[in-house]
Amino acid sequence: MAEPRVVLLPGDGIGREVAEQARLVFGRLAPDVELDERAIGAAAIRATGDPLPEETLAACRGAAAVLKGPVGDPEFDAADVRPEQGILRLRAALDTYANLRPAVSREVDLLIVRELVGGLYFGESGVREDGTVFDTCEYHPSQIERVVRRAFALAQARRGRLTSVDKANVLETSRLWRRIVDALAPDYSDVRVEHMLVDNAAMQLATAPERFDVLVTENMFGDILSDLAAAVTGGLGLAPSASLSDTGPGIFEPVHGSAPDIAGRGVANPAAMLRSTALLLEHGLGRVAEARALAHAVDHALAHSPTADVGGTATTAGFGAAVREQLVLTETAVASYSAGNASRA
Ligand code: NAD
Repeated sequence: MAEPRVVLLPGDGIGREVAEQARLVFGRLAPDVELDERAIGAAAIRATGDPLPEETLAACRGAAAVLKGPVGDPEFDAADVRPEQGILRLRAALDTYANLRPAVSREVDLLIVRELVGGLYFGESGVREDGTVFDTCEYHPSQIERVVRRAFALAQARRGRLTSVDKANVLETSRLWRRIVDALAPDYSDVRVEHMLVDNAAMQLATAPERFDVLVTENMFGDILSDLAAAVTGGLGLAPSASLSDTGPGIFEPVHGSAPDIAGRGVANPAAMLRSTALLLEHGLGRVAEARALAHAVDHALAHSPTADVGGTATTAGFGAAVREQLVLTETAVASYSAGNASRA
């Protein structure tokens, strides 16, 4: 069988720095995987004028999975063609509608499932003659059903609790969302469902995040709540995400942005990118053992060799080296355990 190909999109700002650590981890954990590096975002605009060049999209479509760094550059903040348009187009083209954002700390273990290819970020927008600017939020029932079903299934595999977040007291799309959740609930009778308004959900995430198991919500609410969940569980430098479709390649990427304030200094925390790599190994390539080993090695490095954003002094490269060192120790332990068992057999 052909070697699996993973498209690596380093992106902008600290993207290059954290992507380099992911590349080194692949060399250690999955050297048979072909890494196909392509441009997206500001880097792609500079090279081709397009934040998602056709050749990048074609490479992604045919890949086993996509590992993406953050995009964004202040130089393009006021431009018509912006780096972030590349991500939205990539998500839409690959139909990665289910965005999984785990937030984990010693006390908290929750998963936000965010709808990723509908709602306000994909609705019609424009400027009227009188100068009024508008964005519209639209959802087809089928868009809601597929992401809510995913969330129910994920809750079944976890602690059996699902919080559906909406603004049903104000928004029509939220009332539809709520009706669909209620209609699907009987298919998942082992899951306890609650509805929560988004403003209350924000407060509860800030004050009592440990009460949650799985949260499911529409695109913009999920965007905001998942940053909040990341903040209360250790910071943006730690939070990974997986964006999955039903059939094609998933996109695995850190939740954080391109961090222009620290880019180029070699101090960015690569933990979120490496945790995204672990999600890719598990959900994109089905390599569960390697994924677990990497997640464990990242936890170990966070405890013993943290970067500045989480109170330490390690550089990006130093943190990556600590992760790879831990991977070697784990491999050695597994090998000697297997050898011991073999000699006893
Ligand atoms: P940001 O996440 O880039 O930075 C917010 C703060 O967190 C900054 O102080 C930054 O230094 C810090 N931070 C973020 N990641 C870190 C890491 N790995 N290690 C250490 N510190 C880290 O958010 P922002 O400043 O609002 O956005 C900057 C750019 O990123 C914008 O152009 C925005 O559009 C883009 N962005 C892209 C994505 C994406 O590609 N998915 C997501 C969010 C923002």
